[in-house]
Amino acid sequence: MLVWAVKKKYSIFTLLKNAFSNNENWQKMWKSPEPKKSYDVIVVGGGGHGLGTAYYLAKEHGIKNIAVIEKGWIGSGNTGRNTTIIRSNYLWNESAFLYDHSVKLWENLSQELNYNMMFSQRGVMNLAHNEHDIKEMKRRISANRLNGLDTQWLETKDIKRLVPIMNTDNLRYPVLGAAFQRRGGVARHDAVAWGFAMRADEMGVDIIQNCEVHSIKTKNGKVEGVKTSKGFISAKKVAVVASGHTSVLAKTAGVRLPLQSRPLQALVSEPIKPVINTVVMSNAVHAYVSQSDKGELVIGAGTDGYNSFTQRGGYDVIEETVRAIVELYPIFGKMKMLRQWGGIVDICPDASPIISKCEVKGLYFNCGWGTGGFKATPGSANVFAHTVANDEPHKINAAFNLERFSDGRLIDEHGAAAVAH
Ligand SMILES: Cc1cc2nc3c(=O)[nH]c(=O)nc-3n(C[C@H](O)[C@H](O)[C@H](O)COP(=O)(O)OP(=O)(O)OC[C@H]3O[C@@H](n4cnc5c(N)ncnc54)[C@H](O)[C@@H]3O)c2cc1C
Repeated sequence: MLVWAVKKKYSIFTLLKNAFSNNENWQKMWKSPEPKKSYDVIVVGGGGHGLGTAYYLAKEHGIKNIAVIEKGWIGSGNTGRNTTIIRSNYLWNESAFLYDHSVKLWENLSQELNYNMMFSQRGVMNLAHNEHDIKEMKRRISANRLNGLDTQWLETKDIKRLVPIMNTDNLRYPVLGAAFQRRGGVARHDAVAWGFAMRADEMGVDIIQNCEVHSIKTKNGKVEGVKTSKGFISAKKVAVVASGHTSVLAKTAGVRLPLQSRPLQALVSEPIKPVINTVVMSNAVHAYVSQSDKGELVIGAGTDGYNSFTQRGGYDVIEETVRAIVELYPIFGKMKMLRQWGGIVDICPDASPIISKCEVKGLYFNCGWGTGGFKATPGSANVFAHTVANDEPHKINAAFNLERFSDGRLIDEHGAAAVAH
C-alpha cells in the first residue's frame, strides 16, 4: 500500500525519472478491479462529484469498502464536457454557503490531492445588458457582500479596461455594466476526476469502469444493492450521482425526482495568442467565453429547448451562441471552431441541486446541478459524503433536500444560474 502511494506521488523527481524513460513507465493512476460481491457504499457515477464523494467517505468518515461504478470511463459525463467556470456569487444564503464551501476547497485541492487542478482565479464577469440585469445583479452583489463574498459592480469603462477586445456599445444589447467575482475562474475538468480517483483508489476504493447500473434493488423500503452489466452487487448504502441519468435510475427504485434532462453544448476554437484573461458570461445573449492555457477559446451555449438524452444538441443553439460571440467580440469573426459537443444536464425547477436522502432507507441522491455543477464538485462531494456516512445532511446541504418540493421551501437561483454556468 505504501509503495503504491509513494509511486503515485508527483514531484520534480518523478517527472525527471519518467522523462528519461520516454514517459513509458508511469505507474497506473488507479487499479481496475472486478466488482466484489458486496460493499458498504456503492457510488453510482464516476464523475467528479461521485469520485469526490468516495474520496471524502474514505478520508473523512473512515469508510473504505466502497465502489464507484461508472458505465463508461471516469470523467466521460459532464465532468469532462463542461466549460469549467467556477464562482460562488449565488443569491440566497444557502447557495452562497454551498458554492463558496466549494471555492474554498478548490483553492487547496491541488495540494490536497497532489495533482495539478490548474485552478486559475482569473475572475468571472457577468454582463448586464438591460435595466432588469442591472437591478438583479446589484441586488445579488449586495446579498453576496452580506455573506462575505468578493463580488463587485463594474462600470462599462472598467470592463473595457479588463477586456479591451469587447464591443460594448455598437450592438443589439449594449454592455451596461457587470457583476465581477475575482476569486472565480476556471480549472482543468479531467484533473478533478483523476485527482479524486487516484487518492480514493489509494485508500482502497474500487473504481469500476465500463459497468452500467441497470436498476437499484430495494426490499421493504430499504436498499439492497444494484443490478449491473456485471451482475448484482449488494450494498448497505447506494449514493446516486449520475447527473442527466439520475431520474432514470431513481425510477427503478420507485423514487420520482423533479428533474428535466436536457442537452447543453459547448465548443472550442483553434488556439490563438492570449487575448482574454478573465471569464466573461452573458445570460441575455447566451454567450460565455474564456481562453484555455492552450489558447483555445472555450465557448458555452444555452440548453436545448426540449428534453433529450443525446450528448449532442441542436445546431440552432450553437448558431445563436456564435452569433452573439462575434457581436460582442468582432475580432473573433474569422476564427475557426475546432470541436463542438453536448452533455446531458439535470435541471431542478428552482435551479438548485438536490443533495439528499429519500424515502428508501440507504438510498441517497446528489443531482439537479443543471448547467452549473462543475464549480461545486469538491464542496458537493464533501457534504454528500457527510450525508451518506451519517444518514443526516451536513448543515451546508440541509436545505437542498427533496422535501422542499412538497413543503415549498424552494431555493430559487434562476437569476444566478439561469442558462449560465
Ligand atoms: C457543455 C456543458 C458546459 C458546462 N459548463 C459548466 C461550467 O462552466 N461551470 C459549471 O459549474 N458547470 C458546468 N456544467 C455543468 C457540470 O458539468 C455538471 O454539473 C457537473 O460536471 C456534474 O458532475 P457529476 O459528477 O455530477 O456528473 P457527471 O460528470 O456527468 O458524472 C455522472 C456519471 O454517471 C455515469 N452514469 C450515468 N448513468 C449511469 C449508470 N446507469 N450506471 C453507471 N454510471 C452511470 C455517467 O457516465 C457519468 O460519467 C456544464 C455542463 C455541460 C454539459
